[in-house]
Amino acid sequence: MREIDASIIISNIKEMCIEANLYLSNDIESAVKKAFDTEKNELGKKIIGQLIENLEIADKDQIPICQDTGMAIVFVKLGQDVHVTGMNLTDAINEGVRQGYVEGYLRKSVVKDPIIRENTKDNTPAIIHYDIVEGENIEITVAPKGFGSENMSRMYMLKPADGVEGIKKSVVEAVSMAGPNACPPFVVGVGIGGNFEKAAILAKTALTRDINTHHPDEHIKALEEDLLNEINALGIGPAGLGGSNTALAVNIETFATHIAGMPCAINMCCHVNRHSRRTI
Ligand code: SF4
Repeated sequence: MREIDASIIISNIKEMCIEANLYLSNDIESAVKKAFDTEKNELGKKIIGQLIENLEIADKDQIPICQDTGMAIVFVKLGQDVHVTGMNLTDAINEGVRQGYVEGYLRKSVVKDPIIRENTKDNTPAIIHYDIVEGENIEITVAPKGFGSENMSRMYMLKPADGVEGIKKSVVEAVSMAGPNACPPFVVGVGIGGNFEKAAILAKTALTRDINTHHPDEHIKALEEDLLNEINALGIGPAGLGGSNTALAVNIETFATHIAGMPCAINMCCHVNRHSRRTI
């Protein structure tokens, strides 16, 4: 059994919150640059140029890419041969988020009660998804999520008879309804299968996958490619002002489901698709 002191978790989470808010991962940054080269609409090209300039300013001045520094979503793959010492893991993750958002001067966007709406002033609690895996490491992904795009996400409880066409119709409808409100160009995370909550978590997980990769199953890879083409044919374009780059990628994750259902969740994300991953 490997022992990992909670202080190591805290310092890593703190650094990852700051890192994710200041720099895009390489795959997203190069996709934005590629979109600049391929954008056919003059205004769309100008907007992408401004997004690239914004990334450069964030890097140079060490300020967040976007004013909405998001709610901290944390995916944890916890090796079953790891024993965290000094503090329980959930408290350690929240302490890391607290230190990252306070010491990194990131906007605190979390309210304690969804109706009373009093700010917690340190961006906690994080939303944490645990997965117990083999081994003696902990893989942590910190994915701060802005709510401009989160608010435009959708859940469809499709029936098996809806088929692939039903999935396509739902995803394209969700993207069309999101329009400029989710700050295109988008990364579209899609979760198909499982049940109501599993599909939503799959869609969120899909957003953390390298956008240069495809789902390993050929029919899902084909669906990712078809959907990206259909979405870009909508002409919503950068900032919703028209153009050929409405989405940078469509990432799909799937899971087994019930014979009577085919849940399909669409988690919309803007180009500020933040995630920082480390293995401890
Ligand atoms: S949707 Fe993205 S780019 Fe738009 S405000 Fe939110 S985090 Fe920023």
